[in-house]
Amino acid sequence: MASVETVTGPIDAVELGTTLIHEHLLARDEGIHAQWPHLATGGLDPEPVEVPPDRVFDVAVGCARGVLDRGVRTICDPSCMFLGRDVGFMRRVAEATDVQVVPCTGIYTYDHLPTGLLTRDADAIADLFVHDIETGIQGTEIKAAFIKCAADEPGVNENVEKIHRAAARASARTGAPIMAHSRPASNTAPRQIEIFEEEGVELGRVQIAHTGDSDDLDYIEGLLQKGVFIGMDRFGLEIFLPYAQRITTVLALLERGYADRMFLSADYCATLDWYPLEVEKAMVAGGAAKDWSMNIVHDKVLPSLREGGATDEQIETMLVANPPRWLAGA
Ligand SMILES: [Zn+2]
Repeated sequence: MASVETVTGPIDAVELGTTLIHEHLLARDEGIHAQWPHLATGGLDPEPVEVPPDRVFDVAVGCARGVLDRGVRTICDPSCMFLGRDVGFMRRVAEATDVQVVPCTGIYTYDHLPTGLLTRDADAIADLFVHDIETGIQGTEIKAAFIKCAADEPGVNENVEKIHRAAARASARTGAPIMAHSRPASNTAPRQIEIFEEEGVELGRVQIAHTGDSDDLDYIEGLLQKGVFIGMDRFGLEIFLPYAQRITTVLALLERGYADRMFLSADYCATLDWYPLEVEKAMVAGGAAKDWSMNIVHDKVLPSLREGGATDEQIETMLVANPPRWLAGA
């Protein structure tokens, strides 16, 4: 029986149940947090508010309870380096709510790397990822279940390529799957996939996150033909693609038979430290996010998909069957 690591220990892959593949229990820069721990972060559910540091846990628990009430059993939390990964925090949320949280290793960067990673090559960085997968994360026995990397507007530059090669080599050594943040508007995914191919990664264990920011079916099918999974994972983030176009795109791909290649999620962040409150409020008022919430998949997306003709079987495939296939090859 294939197993999957969670912050409360390994489980059988079949126990994952209904899974949101891309949600953050917190998202912040660990450097800012370490230096100015008094700083409030942003909470967005349902309106932008400042969340003082001692409330961040309660907000994450509230999000977890919200999805549990809707039948979700598991959240994959792709917070890694530079997104404030804190597996102790994730475990406390899991223990307080009974949600299963699947943690990762990896580095979320579009370019910047600290000197200590500039001076290390891809193999040495792969060693760090393998440590998290085989030994444990942040001094705990919690093991990483997948590897995260990212490419965005700056493209697959030298540093980003090194992290992708490190992720690929750690995947090849351990069998752990990869989640690659992509930016369709910058056409990053073809090059990201090419690097994984060059490194011999099994593409059926690669997920190209944020593919749902595009409604270009030719672009998306080009990725799918490589055999990867795709994340339709930012419902509510109007700033990248309006909701209606996201739904139309998923329905078109379902019609073409790709239920077994897609994930539904929101990339919601229970709290986020990226913006001062007034900026966050202006962005939301300007329509950057609408109904963005950890609940949006169940409250809005599934009804929209069913209305558009999606079957229960297709929905079950995306939310229940695909996660163990990607995470455990099961
Ligand atoms: Zn994310």
